[in-house]
Amino acid sequence: MTKLSNEYIEEVVKACRPFASRGSVVDHIPGLDQSHLTDLGVTIVTLDGDVFSAGEDHNDFSFQSISKVILLLMALEDFGKDIVFQKVGMEPTDDFFNSISNLEDYEGQKPYNPLINSGAIATASMIKGSSTEERFKRCLDFIRKITENKKISMNEAVYESEVKNGARNKALAYFMESTGVLSSQESDDALDLYHRINSIDINSLALAKMGCFLSNHGRLIGSKKQLISPEHVRTVKAIMLSSGMYNESGSFGVEVGFPLKSGVSGSIVGSVPGQMGIGIIGPAINKKGNSEAGGEALRILSRDLKLNIFHDS
Ligand code: GLU
Repeated sequence: MTKLSNEYIEEVVKACRPFASRGSVVDHIPGLDQSHLTDLGVTIVTLDGDVFSAGEDHNDFSFQSISKVILLLMALEDFGKDIVFQKVGMEPTDDFFNSISNLEDYEGQKPYNPLINSGAIATASMIKGSSTEERFKRCLDFIRKITENKKISMNEAVYESEVKNGARNKALAYFMESTGVLSSQESDDALDLYHRINSIDINSLALAKMGCFLSNHGRLIGSKKQLISPEHVRTVKAIMLSSGMYNESGSFGVEVGFPLKSGVSGSIVGSVPGQMGIGIIGPAINKKGNSEAGGEALRILSRDLKLNIFHDS
């Protein structure tokens, strides 16, 4: 079996970088433009604490949709599974991540799952705190803790642009207000928290540490302290497997075979239970919103390192 090393990750980056030319970089996120098309950073952090990394692994990109994992973890801790899944479903959907039409047809008109925009706005309404500032600070402190990086912060320019371009998210929040998923007090605050957490800057090392935290069942490496209950971590990883890669989650489940979550900045977090966390930044995305080079890197890593959780050795 392939042995993990920095040289091996460098080879993976070299082999996958050309795949970026199949995709394009979104043009509405400040700091991200076509000059980043072929950027690719891949970092692995193992549960033994070893770090293997190559490429543009220190470039910061915004968290975007990966923040949905954080919102779900915290909502589960704050309110428990029963209450969270009264407001949001746990089923995959073939619709796009910001679909509004699927809010009309699903059971009780609630979002299909917490990893699409409507679902994440719903989970954002279930973060405890007396103000949006306090709720956001709790989320940021939690992200800093699990990535062991106190410098992580929100990018103001990205936040302004999320708000400016947030008409679709506003529509989702108000639609959910109209059907009673959100109360009129909740919708604006949930939307604002969602836009803020999307705008946090992060790099592939921090994403790999986040993945590692999930792989280690809700504990930091080397610590016995349970920051999130193992049951909640398990729930989140199951939903990442079924819904984490937008409407391409099925094929990633087959070809990669472990929990993942991607964002439109081209970032991906992966969690190989009991083994490692993987962080990828590759801004050129396909039409479904997933990093082209990053997706290829995951397929290669899964094959070479036998990471598919359904692998029968
Ligand atoms: N900020 C984007 C939105 O709210 C996130 C999209 C994503 O990464 O899926 O639409």
